[in-house]
Amino acid sequence: MAIENRAYDFLVKVVLIGDSGVGKSCVISPCLAVTFPNSYLSLPSALAVLSRFTRGEFNPDSKSTIGVEFATKSLEIDGKIVKGQIWDTAGQERFRALTAAYYRGSAGALIVYDITSRPSFEAVPQWIQELKNNIKVDDGNMQLMLVGNKSDLAHWRAVSTDEGTALAEEYKMSFMETSALDASGVEEAFGTILKDIYGVLS
Ligand code: GDP
Ligand code: MG
Repeated sequence: MAIENRAYDFLVKVVLIGDSGVGKSCVISPCLAVTFPNSYLSLPSALAVLSRFTRGEFNPDSKSTIGVEFATKSLEIDGKIVKGQIWDTAGQERFRALTAAYYRGSAGALIVYDITSRPSFEAVPQWIQELKNNIKVDDGNMQLMLVGNKSDLAHWRAVSTDEGTALAEEYKMSFMETSALDASGVEEAFGTILKDIYGVLS
């Protein structure tokens, strides 16, 4: 049976945060548009993005009326099914208006920046502060992961991988670069945060 359909042992909430436009929604739901006028989506990468969803690795879930959207991602660890409910902001981060309800009860957060946007990288500490204002991060129960998205846009890179690694070390978070466009690193990023969360649960 597909893992998404099996009964789960743990249900954990993971929130996506980070500046608007970094690709948060695209890492959990099909997105075929591209950011830059010069870039184009080749047929193979379009197919890769589509097949990710038809294979059922992510279940785009309900679009709720409270302005929150989420997808689920399940992983088997030590014979246990850990089901991650990945919450997306539905665009509210544009107004820095994420509510306490958005963060409430989350076991993990993916803090996303865009490797072609320095401001989005420089905003990461503010997002961590925002998280701390809304939730008890310091008690060690909440797992943070830094995600540098749009790794396919190598020509426009404005933040080096080393800088991402250093920032993640400073805040004791896992780190990964991803591309929602060619799907690289995306599975691994969700796998890593779910494993990190499982590590503190078990
Ligand atoms: P959000 O505001 O953080 O949810 O960002 P979106 O998911 O809406 O993405 C913003 C823009 O970036 C859209 O035009 C996406 O198509 C584009 N985008 C998202 N992820 C990637 C990626 O990995 N690579 C490229 N090239 N573009 C991406
Ligand atoms: Mg979005």
